Amino acid sequence: MYRGLVEELARKNDSRILLAVIDGLGDISIEELGGRTPLEAARTPEMDRLAAGGALGVHISVARGITPGSGPAHLGLFGYDPVKYQVGRGVLAALGVGFNLKHGDLAVRINFCTLDDEGVITDRRAGRITTEKCVELVGMLADIKIDGVETFVIPVKQHRACVVFRGNDLSDDILDTDPGLVGHRPVPVDGSEKSHRVVREFQRKAEEILKDLHPANFLLMRGFALHKEFPSFEERFALDAASVALYPMYRGVAGLVGMNVFKCDPEDLSGEVKAVKKALRNGHDFVFLHHKPADSAGEDGNVSAKIRAIEEFDRALPSFLEPGFDVVCITGDHSTPCPMKLHSWHSVPVLIHGGPQRWGYSSAFSERQAIKGALGSFMSTDIMPLLLASAGKLAKFGA
Ligand code: ZN
Repeated sequence: MYRGLVEELARKNDSRILLAVIDGLGDISIEELGGRTPLEAARTPEMDRLAAGGALGVHISVARGITPGSGPAHLGLFGYDPVKYQVGRGVLAALGVGFNLKHGDLAVRINFCTLDDEGVITDRRAGRITTEKCVELVGMLADIKIDGVETFVIPVKQHRACVVFRGNDLSDDILDTDPGLVGHRPVPVDGSEKSHRVVREFQRKAEEILKDLHPANFLLMRGFALHKEFPSFEERFALDAASVALYPMYRGVAGLVGMNVFKCDPEDLSGEVKAVKKALRNGHDFVFLHHKPADSAGEDGNVSAKIRAIEEFDRALPSFLEPGFDVVCITGDHSTPCPMKLHSWHSVPVLIHGGPQRWGYSSAFSERQAIKGALGSFMSTDIMPLLLASAGKLAKFGA
């Protein structure tokens, strides 16, 4: 088990921490907002109140100038150096649907697709078949047997599913078979290692089963990833953590660090509020809460939708806080500036409320105030130590 300074000093107490992540929160100056950002333009009385009584800063997700995906960006927030702990998409997909991965499993995402008579891809998503159809197709593939491995095929959503191969000596040194474009053939799996043989055999057997069906008559594979177990949140930070997220990938990353993944019913903000309350009733002392719509709006370049997403979260905040947290952190995993319609490298506002803080430096939660805030600028991996310290969960170092 990995033990650094924070792990040595972490101790349990009764304090409860909320880490709320507004995905893609950070933004840049926007012309139509007179140079303000969506967070600056949004009406956020709840977060502003916490900002005034707490401390602000900005975090750098991976390194200056580096644009992260949401997976590594979340690992940074959870205190895991995203460069040291790299996770492939296949692993995230399998964890996201609640599959219990074991160390050494090889996981990959699949898309059901349509091939023409020449074997050329005409639709990479097989007309976005329904999830029911996906479940039916996965059921047909479930009997595939391959020497030397156990094979698990798991439906995800619509045309998406994932496959996990379990056996010795697997590697993830395999290129995607999905060329990413229609009008091409699937990329052949070359190589002589066990993993290459296993994947080729899976593809051949899947092809036999699917070939006469329409529109899903083949499958494409991408994001081969070997699962490596991480030291858990409990081991590292002495926290019994819960995650409340609507999207599979975020549940996956949370599961990877050993958080207890709570289902939300219904699958909306009200379901998330219920799940947060349940997590605390069940004795969890750390809750990770994920809010996705701000990122989607940023990727669409939709400024007003991003403002609405932030305001929607702000309105729900009192309900999330109602069960009683001692320390609350609100931040984003990365910036998704509307003018770029992409994730970016820009630093991300952080708000910490509760525990001893240098408060009174800020009056609102915004990029402008966060950059000048009491916490300054720090790496995303510093957030967990700051939260533990704020909650009185880090002992003194030395006499
Ligand atoms: Zn994200």
